Amino acid sequence: KPTRLAVKDSEPKHLPIYQHKNKLVQAVRKSPFLIVTGETGSGKTTQLPQYLHEAGFCKNGKIGITQPRRVAAITVAQRVAQEMKCTLGREVGYQVRFDDCTSQETAVKYMTDGCLLREVLADPSLSQYSVVILDEVHERSLNTDILLGLLKNVFSDPAEAAKRRSFPLKVVVMSATLESDKLSAFFNNCPVFEIPGRVFPVTCTFGSAVGPKDVERNFYVKEVVKVALDVHISEKAGDILVFLTGQSEIEHACDLLFEKAENIDYRYDVQDRTVEGLLILPLYGSMPTDQQRQIFQPPPPGIRKCVVATNIAATSLTINGIKYIVDSGFVKQLNHNSRVGMDVLEVVPISKSEAQQRAGRAGRTSAGKCFRIYTKEFWEKCMPEYTIPEIQRTSLTAVILTLKCLGVHDVIRFPYLDCPEERFILEALKQLYQFDAIDRRGKVTKLGELMVEFPLHPGLTRALLKSASLGCQDLLLPVAAMLSVENIFIRSVTWRTLEKEAAKKHRALAEKTGSINDFATLLCVFNSCKSSDRPSAWCKENWIHWRALKSAFSVETQLREILLRLQQVQDFPTESFDGNKSELLRRCLCSGYFTNVARRSVGKVFCTMDGHGSMVHVHPSSSLFEQEAELNWVIFHDVLVTSKTYIRTVCPIRYEWVKDLLPKLHEVDVYELSSVARQ
Ligand code: ADP
Ligand code: MG
Repeated sequence: KPTRLAVKDSEPKHLPIYQHKNKLVQAVRKSPFLIVTGETGSGKTTQLPQYLHEAGFCKNGKIGITQPRRVAAITVAQRVAQEMKCTLGREVGYQVRFDDCTSQETAVKYMTDGCLLREVLADPSLSQYSVVILDEVHERSLNTDILLGLLKNVFSDPAEAAKRRSFPLKVVVMSATLESDKLSAFFNNCPVFEIPGRVFPVTCTFGSAVGPKDVERNFYVKEVVKVALDVHISEKAGDILVFLTGQSEIEHACDLLFEKAENIDYRYDVQDRTVEGLLILPLYGSMPTDQQRQIFQPPPPGIRKCVVATNIAATSLTINGIKYIVDSGFVKQLNHNSRVGMDVLEVVPISKSEAQQRAGRAGRTSAGKCFRIYTKEFWEKCMPEYTIPEIQRTSLTAVILTLKCLGVHDVIRFPYLDCPEERFILEALKQLYQFDAIDRRGKVTKLGELMVEFPLHPGLTRALLKSASLGCQDLLLPVAAMLSVENIFIRSVTWRTLEKEAAKKHRALAEKTGSINDFATLLCVFNSCKSSDRPSAWCKENWIHWRALKSAFSVETQLREILLRLQQVQDFPTESFDGNKSELLRRCLCSGYFTNVARRSVGKVFCTMDGHGSMVHVHPSSSLFEQEAELNWVIFHDVLVTSKTYIRTVCPIRYEWVKDLLPKLHEVDVYELSSVARQ
């Protein structure tokens, strides 16, 4: 039977950080800012907050730890609650968007960076906290980068900071890789604590399947499955970690693996006689948390574990016992696409540093192997050296509004760790102006102050506020909630026959609304399920994810609460509507989505109206797919680029509804805003 290091290894006392416990606590005591670096898996995220808790840092306030990823915040909090032997949500809790699992007692709080940013908005001096730990800073997520700048602004002058708070705040910045010099310089040369860690060698091999010409094609799923099976059959005991890009792909790969693994004859096919089976586990962001917990458990003796994961397993979560990596070489990323003129979700080659990080996951407890399915040439020609920070590649509209509401008017000279291009900042200002969130002089309007309260995309918030001023928020609240949760519709790629049935059911739901459009379908699903006596059975029947819908119900309640609160304290705008009632939903949507208008040009091709004039297609998941010929003007929720540029969640509109709004897209002169931005 194979020996397992896993159990011993995850004992907190065996983690590299343990030997440095006292010195670390001292270092936090001594300096207002501290950088902590250490290999992934050394125990930073799970242990340091516990050390500080034990050392009495929670006397005056909480310890807050941010994570760029929602799943990481939740699973790590679970783990720490378990280690501290308390119920999750009491001493140890977590808060992520639309899910708050904390209480009065909570002293150690894991949260997403977005949540902490919202807390700064409500209380800029973070008076409830004694320690704030920004974790996974090397990921360079947009919100973490903004928090770095804000904390530097507020707390780097001790005299100023003392005026705002009754006791000093400790800021700890944690990172896996070696950007410590840059981070230290950013915080006035603050001390750096490096946790020495031992890493074992990982041998990497390149494959022959994906070369420079294959960037646009996505047959890598099959290749990854093939390589993973090869490893299973020919390599010694030890678990496998496979990197893919997203949920549907991962589920597809797991299905394929499962099918193939069933035909293995362990008496003859498998080289290592101690290996008697394969346990296949998916891991992605929107997975149920009880399923996620399985990932960390060592497999039964004789069974090899194979985790098929998104990039989340690269640094945010450490799985013990991994000896083999299968790297697809791709990642799904939200990028600002200058061709389309907006943020789009894209599958792109990872950077070389990312590939090294992935490979490193195999060398934590002993020497490992990494199988790259791409060629050396792909590595050289298609993979950039480093991953570009999110702040330099996505829309800044929401964070610029947050900064403005925090009183940061000069958004160009804000202390960014890496400056975004000026045109991205100007683009954000322009969009805020178009949404009436700021005025021509760059000052936040009343509407802008309302908008910043919602943890939604500004366009969607604009539509929601419009509906509230017209008194028809019951139409928009469910839609906003449904757009905030992932994967409502079950559309399996592998069960072909069942897929047709799912499509038929979804079609029927769309038709039920009378006017076929994807937003109305979301509303219909929400309301039908809500009014059903047996909602989970209803979901099953209609190929809807019950879990996703349950979270949509909760999100809707929370959005409704925010709205009610605003309606009570502010003199909330009201308007009357003299049009056709059946148009109400679509008219409200137009007031937020006029930036996403497209007009059909020829055949099934649409042209966007935002000045970029990009050619786009209706995505097959839309209820309007293959009915394009009957359409003329549409609005859409988002854009996906694969082999074509697709628009998703689509709704037909009339030109008159956006006629007065469209000129706004070209009206503002960005140079005017540029001078405003600097004032
Ligand atoms: P770092 O932040 O330095 O990357 P972590 O504190 O995340 O390190 O991880 C330390 C150890 O705790 C790892 O061995 C990891 O496998 C283990 N661990 C973390 N979360 C869980 C969990 N939910 N279940 C089991 N083990 C976990
Ligand atoms: Mg960590």
